[in-house]
Amino acid sequence: VSERPYILITNDDGIQAPGLMALARALSEVADFTVVAPASEQSAVGHAITLSDPLRVSDYKGFSPQTAFMVDGTPADCVKIAIRSLLDREPDLVLSGINLGGNTGINTIYSGTVSAATEGSILGYTSLAVSLTTFTDPDFSYAARFTRALSLLVLEHGLPPGVFLNVNIPACSEEDVAGVMITRQGGALYREEFDRRHDPRGRVYYWLTGQEVEVEDDLAVDNGAVQKNYISITPLHFDLTRYDLQEELRSWNIHT
Ligand code: MN
Repeated sequence: VSERPYILITNDDGIQAPGLMALARALSEVADFTVVAPASEQSAVGHAITLSDPLRVSDYKGFSPQTAFMVDGTPADCVKIAIRSLLDREPDLVLSGINLGGNTGINTIYSGTVSAATEGSILGYTSLAVSLTTFTDPDFSYAARFTRALSLLVLEHGLPPGVFLNVNIPACSEEDVAGVMITRQGGALYREEFDRRHDPRGRVYYWLTGQEVEVEDDLAVDNGAVQKNYISITPLHFDLTRYDLQEELRSWNIHT
C-alpha cells in the first residue's frame, strides 16, 4: 500500500514554533497533514478548553502546500475543533509537538502538548505527544526524524483505545542517544518557587519560576531515562480510575 497517511499536527508552543516546523518538514516526506495549532504559546495550560469566549480560526500559509489553521485557543481546543469542524477527512494520527522542553514526571499533567494527544485519544484517534528535553539552543532535526519513524511504526501497530504515547527525546547529539526506553510516568516535580516582587505602583505580585524537573535515578522512569540520554516512551491513558482500589473502598461500607 503506497497510500500516504494523513496526520493532524498540533502543539502548545504556538503555530510559529520551530519544533512544529521541524516536525512538519520531516513528515512532509512520508505523509499528508493539516496543522491546527494555537495562535500563541499555550504551554502549561493542561487540558483547558475555551467555553466562555469565541474561538477565532484563521488560515495560516506557513505550511503551504499543506493546509494550516491558527486557533486563538488551547491545544485541546485545536484538536477538538480540527476533528469536529476543520478537517475534511479523519486523520490516521494526531501528533502533538515537538515541544520545547521535556514533559516528564508531574509535568505531564500540566502539559498542553500531552493534553493535545489526550484529546486526540479521547476522540478515538491514535495519538502521540513529543517533547525535546531542553529549553536552550534546541536542535529539533534528530527528534523530528525519530518522530517520523515512530509515527509510521505506531500507524503500523496501532494502539489500544484510550491509550496514547508520551515521547521525550534527549537534547544530546544523535550519536549520544543511548537508545529507547519504555518507561512509566515519574513522580518528579518542578523545582519551583514564587518570586515575590513589587510593581511600579508598589503593589506586591508573584511570578512562578523554576524549569528543571527533579530527576529520579531510575531508567524505568521517564525523566530518569532522558537524563541518561535515552528516548523515553511512556504509554498513557486518560481513564484515571484506580481499579484495584474499588473493592477496598466498597469494604468500607460508606453509606448515606
Ligand atoms: Mn510548550
